[in-house]
Amino acid sequence: MWREMAAVLGIDMTMNLEGIHHVSSITGNAQANVDFYAGVLGLRLVKKTVNQDDPTVYHLFYGDDKGSPGLDLTFFEYPGAERGRAGQGMIHRIVLRVASEPALDFWERRLGTAERSRGSLLFEDPEGLGLELRVVDGQDAPLTATHPEIPAEHAIRGFEEVRAYTADPERSRSLLENGLGFIKDGGMSWIARGESRGGRYIYDPAPAERGVPGAGTVHHVAWASLDDEQLKWRDRVIGEGAHPTPVIDRFWFKSVYFREPSGVLFEVATMGPGFAVDEDPEHLGEKLVLPPRFEHLRGQLEETLTPIRVPAGAGKS
Ligand code: ZN
Repeated sequence: MWREMAAVLGIDMTMNLEGIHHVSSITGNAQANVDFYAGVLGLRLVKKTVNQDDPTVYHLFYGDDKGSPGLDLTFFEYPGAERGRAGQGMIHRIVLRVASEPALDFWERRLGTAERSRGSLLFEDPEGLGLELRVVDGQDAPLTATHPEIPAEHAIRGFEEVRAYTADPERSRSLLENGLGFIKDGGMSWIARGESRGGRYIYDPAPAERGVPGAGTVHHVAWASLDDEQLKWRDRVIGEGAHPTPVIDRFWFKSVYFREPSGVLFEVATMGPGFAVDEDPEHLGEKLVLPPRFEHLRGQLEETLTPIRVPAGAGKS
């Protein structure tokens, strides 16, 4: 039915999103955040920059050695921000892939406090952000970072899913399926799979307590679009009643934001041009990098931003 209607409307049903591009969250302490994501989880700090909507604060990006879409955890720092709490319309857990049960054994030892079950390890970052490592034996190429304390076979390999709270998943269904081409693969589970990668979007029943944005909460999830399809995705979500922003040039990728009906902030981000556009890929994340339109603020920002130190050995490939 939808396919026939899509054909009449001239909508391209062959177009697919390439899974999760990045997930952006909030931290109250950039140094503790670097110590955990680069130092403990062994991700590479691939870009140290500022929030383009508020250049007085850091925006940190962690990923694989190349800073690929598909493993890109980003954090906006609000120094001293109070801890938040995920509730209705918020993502409450980010699920990352590992290769095997022995990898989970390794991480269980390394993390100390984590809840182990078959194929899964649940834990939190230092500010309470829900994380999970899951054994996924999928077709996607692993996206890994090199870290001296983490054997390559145990390294984190990319995003698997994000889990959000909602009381009423049905109200988001048409946007997810008809607007974004997600395929339903379970009660409250959808998959976005393109040519090279896939990722899942899952709802869990919302807790009674209201969510509170703050440190340790997710700000938005970005889905990866081929560069020349982003405007078509924008048109499609408008057709589903969403109110996307215009295309915003984030310099390393282009972004369109909108809220899905359950309240979660979504972004559709282009795969390119990527983080190596303005830095030597061998030295990603070492210096404060500013998009050209913020370069005039460099002197001031270097004085006001708290310097951060990347743990020894992390981020070197
Ligand atoms: Zn984003």
